[in-house]
Amino acid sequence: MQHQDDTASLLSDASKRLDRALKYVNISEDAIARLQHPKTSLSVSIPVRMDDGRLKVFSGYRVRYEDTRGAGKGGVRYHPHVSLDEVQSLAFWMTFKCALLDLPFGGAKGGITVNPKELSKAELERLSRGYIDAIADAIGIDVDILAPDVYTNATVMGWMMDQYSIIQRKLCRGVVTGKPLELGGSKGRDTATATGAFIVIQTMLPKFKLTPSETTVAVQGFGNAGSAIAALLAQAGYKVVAVSDSQGGIYAPQGLDIASVKEHKDQSREMKAVYCQDTVCSIVEHQTITNQELLALDVDILIPAALENQITKDNGANVKAKYIFEVANGPVSSDADEILNSKGVYIFPDILVNAGGVTVSYFEWVQNRSGWYWTLEEVNQRLKMKMRQEAEETWNISQEFSISLRTAAYVHALNRLGTALDAKGTRNYFVKS
Ligand code: NAD
Repeated sequence: MQHQDDTASLLSDASKRLDRALKYVNISEDAIARLQHPKTSLSVSIPVRMDDGRLKVFSGYRVRYEDTRGAGKGGVRYHPHVSLDEVQSLAFWMTFKCALLDLPFGGAKGGITVNPKELSKAELERLSRGYIDAIADAIGIDVDILAPDVYTNATVMGWMMDQYSIIQRKLCRGVVTGKPLELGGSKGRDTATATGAFIVIQTMLPKFKLTPSETTVAVQGFGNAGSAIAALLAQAGYKVVAVSDSQGGIYAPQGLDIASVKEHKDQSREMKAVYCQDTVCSIVEHQTITNQELLALDVDILIPAALENQITKDNGANVKAKYIFEVANGPVSSDADEILNSKGVYIFPDILVNAGGVTVSYFEWVQNRSGWYWTLEEVNQRLKMKMRQEAEETWNISQEFSISLRTAAYVHALNRLGTALDAKGTRNYFVKS
């Protein structure tokens, strides 16, 4: 597939996955042509009054890639490396993720080029509200719906929903998901990405005759998604031997006490291999490792849960794990896919594994619109049903065509996107028979 802008490396790389899947679907040329281009790409400048009185202008983006199956849906990322190319590729992935999970949404994404760690809380609030002022005309409950992503959280979502409601002069809860519970958030949304990934792992591992107690795991990234999946796996008896954050990682072959590591990180912001009893934490035997070393550990399962392009052609050959579950979006580049596939590594793709987040975001949007709020059990039961169903279907497609799980996931999503796009009319309507 040829994108208009070939310098857009991330988006071009993302679209290579689509090229591989096109061989196994029967969709019209028109649908393929439409999927080649983001529908709307908005770049904005956000002036923010800093605490010291200076005015600083930040760059922000909102991209709606495709919205035939429903309003755009996607998170907002705050990171110094955010670019239009990155946001476009994240919006592209959201399009396929929403179709794969059969959610009535298209794909979108947003971001601001900023290091949020350098801003005070008040500056962060002014930046978040300024972003909504700048993109307000491009979003809406039936247009494009926001959610958290890297370095944004429920508090930021609450500010964004409030700012949009101020602009509209009415309460508009459904325009943002991942909000605090008190502002219309859904139970289970904070851990939904990890819960969804856990359901996929639990559904898939019996196919390989693996049991939790015999399975070792390394997790890259210890944020919202990474720390929660590490905790769920540890609770279920998996041996989580390594975790990391942007500063580096810790490795303990005997397994880490993830609850203690998290408690210590929350209190001190430091990643340490500790065992905590009540409020007292003591350091346990471990090695400190780099992120590159973590990715090359001899473990059964590797979970990249940080950023994109962590496993590339440069380090793909070093990976020793047999199973990769992509909690991050785009952590494995397309050329690394080839290296890993040839080594027989099973890569469970991002658009399936991390789809629990957007699925519970959908539940939140439904609850906001109906005004009827669900219990945690209801949320988790519906999430389990959806994740299992689409994971099994992806597995079956990969078996049927003898293709990778990633290509199978794209085939599954493409079938749904293709029929929706074709329902709007194709060139066949205009060709005389
Ligand atoms: P987060 O900001 O909470 O955490 C990111 C973590 O990655 C932090 O621990 C940070 O220290 C670490 N990190 C940053 N750079 C790193 C590097 N170079 N090496 C190792 N670790 C590094 O973000 P999150 O919400 O947990 O998102 C993580 C990934 O999961 C992203 O790719 C995001 O798009 C994806 N994701 C998140 C959600 C969600 O609901 N939060 C949903 C779907 C996908």
